[in-house]
Amino acid sequence: MIVIGIDIGSVAAKGYLINYDSHHRALIPTGWSPREAGQTIIERLLAASGLASDQVERIYVTGYGRVAFDQADKTVTEIKCHARGIAELYSEVRTIIDIGGQDSKVIRIGEQGRVLDFAMNDKCAAGTGRFLQVMATALGLDVSELGDAEDPGQMQTISSMCTVFAESEIIGSLARGNPKGGIIAGLHQSVGKRVAAMARRMGIKEQVAFTGGVAINPGVKRALEEEIGAKIMVPEVCQYTGALGAALLALENG
Ligand code: ADP
Repeated sequence: MIVIGIDIGSVAAKGYLINYDSHHRALIPTGWSPREAGQTIIERLLAASGLASDQVERIYVTGYGRVAFDQADKTVTEIKCHARGIAELYSEVRTIIDIGGQDSKVIRIGEQGRVLDFAMNDKCAAGTGRFLQVMATALGLDVSELGDAEDPGQMQTISSMCTVFAESEIIGSLARGNPKGGIIAGLHQSVGKRVAAMARRMGIKEQVAFTGGVAINPGVKRALEEEIGAKIMVPEVCQYTGALGAALLALENG
């Protein structure tokens, strides 16, 4: 059977096509129209797989932009999709930490990815990918460069809780000559602290997996591991976990 899962996020739209034993992935910036982004993802997946649209049995969509997309057979919550995706990748995981562009979530799961509980921060940019994007710009870097540029040995703690104040704080810190690598390590620690606090309130049960685009950044993984005191697994397809989960649910007609 051929199915597609689409995750239309605040920053990036991701797609996962499952064609019996093979699969294809696609990722584009969401841009101003979640609907167009979803359509483009389908076109990219069909082009990559050489399939025609009428060969696709089912399309499931998730992510913040899912309500604007009308070409799917079903909309599913991100919580359910991340849980299903991780259950496929790591059957022993019981806690998922997902950090995307505009929210962060902690999901507790049981066997086969059954959702037991979850907590979400979508009220404040601190502790999300957006926070790191703003800070990377202030530091003259791309967000993808932050992980390798950090220097935890020279950690500069960020005290501001708010993104706007934290931006001023790091500009001041740079002006005082503090090392960039230490400032970046402080930023990662700040995200790690916030998200770990949410995870602790929910209760962390091992094993722990980290998903979402921010999981690509090894500095945030390091900070989270320090803050929660447990090892964290990051799948190679971390940013696609929601799309993978949506595709698997479509496959199972779930
Ligand atoms: P959403 O689903 O809200 O669109 P994603 O899970 O796709 O969010 O994650 C987007 C975030 O991931 C960005 O805000 C950015 O902080 C981070 N990110 C994306 N690509 C990279 C990368 N190559 N390296 C580090 N961080 C990244």
